[in-house]
Amino acid sequence: MQRLFSPAGNDRDFTSAAPGYWAGEEVSQEDWNNWAWQLRNRVTTLAGLEQRLVLTDEERAGVILSGNKLALAITPHFFNLIHPTDPDCPIRRQVVPRIEESYDNAEEMADPCGEDSHMPVPGLVHRYPDRVLFLVTDRCASYCRYCTRSRVVSGVGEQELHTEWEAAFQYLEKHTEIRDVLLSGGDALLLSDNKLEALLKRLRSIEHIEFLRIGSRVPIFLPQRITPKLCEMLAKYHPLWMSVHVNHPRELTTEVKEALERLANHGIPLGNQSVLLRGVNDDPAVYKVLVQKLLRCRVRPYYLYQCDLIKGSSHLRTSVAKGLEIIEQLRGHTTGYAVPQFVIDAPGGGGKVPLNPDYLIHRDDGITLVRNYENKVFAYPEPTAKPLNFEIAGFRRD
Ligand SMILES: *Cc1c(COP(=O)(O)O)cnc(C)c1O
Repeated sequence: MQRLFSPAGNDRDFTSAAPGYWAGEEVSQEDWNNWAWQLRNRVTTLAGLEQRLVLTDEERAGVILSGNKLALAITPHFFNLIHPTDPDCPIRRQVVPRIEESYDNAEEMADPCGEDSHMPVPGLVHRYPDRVLFLVTDRCASYCRYCTRSRVVSGVGEQELHTEWEAAFQYLEKHTEIRDVLLSGGDALLLSDNKLEALLKRLRSIEHIEFLRIGSRVPIFLPQRITPKLCEMLAKYHPLWMSVHVNHPRELTTEVKEALERLANHGIPLGNQSVLLRGVNDDPAVYKVLVQKLLRCRVRPYYLYQCDLIKGSSHLRTSVAKGLEIIEQLRGHTTGYAVPQFVIDAPGGGGKVPLNPDYLIHRDDGITLVRNYENKVFAYPEPTAKPLNFEIAGFRRD
């Protein structure tokens, strides 16, 4: 509890928080850097939280009530980023349960993206014409309290994930229109190297599958998992891309940066998918630090998601206007590569829908009027339009 936190605004720097709360426990470097040790030593109980943090009543109640909804689990690596006393800590809000998780809201759902109704085979979501989402496991290294799949992950909820790998492979073999398979879960990087390799090898044996992706928060929760051996294995199955999940710049520690660099050095293009969360990243200044820091880790911001209408997420959701404001404060103001696409995953199962700030002021057959990031207005005449009689300072156009 005697840890010091960097003052606000210093989240730009890459720092290591290890051994942090474990300083008094004489953990060897070897253990700390071992991903199995990190998993075995996750904080999963109220007592484990209270041993290290001062909890509020709302958090204590949240832990007790979350027991049959979505398990509590936080790796020591990630736990070290949590402020010991501040319930508004942006890291803490993502992984420590709160009483609000048990609130009932009419608009919230157990399956907000309508995935269950788009599964031709258990565990395989086929919503778009040429690609599928393959849920390969129900376990994660740590559990995000706003998880869109909380109904099936962590092993304590009402539903279980019944993935049938063999049936999924047969479906993929039959459906030659599928050229892109996205592995998710749960988190595919929690599978052993051998099991993951068998899966990738099997997918690669299907000729029409051109492109493989893994969606994972393991590089952030458990950077120790990104071993050189894992990277070498993954590199055998190119083109293989990875989407990671970082919401706040503080998550990009020294260890995470090194893990991301290892992946990038093995030719794996990296994207980031973040969720817009109240009190975590719903601030244009914080978000700008995040995306700029991601570029320094060779990660291209890919999507910014409006938080799904998942049950018990009211305290973490914020307005659509806030997402648009964040994008508007990035576009033009910083590197284009740093600007993600803001999307809503349409409630009920419509898929991702892009939302953009409006830069179009007027458009007709002759002219398009736009505004730029500084709110200056510009005209673009259509090729077929009659020449405009512009008068520009000192230059007359005839
Ligand atoms: C997000 C998602 C994909 C991948 O979408 P991209 O826009 O290609 O990244 C595929 N299937 C499902 C069901 C998804 O939710």
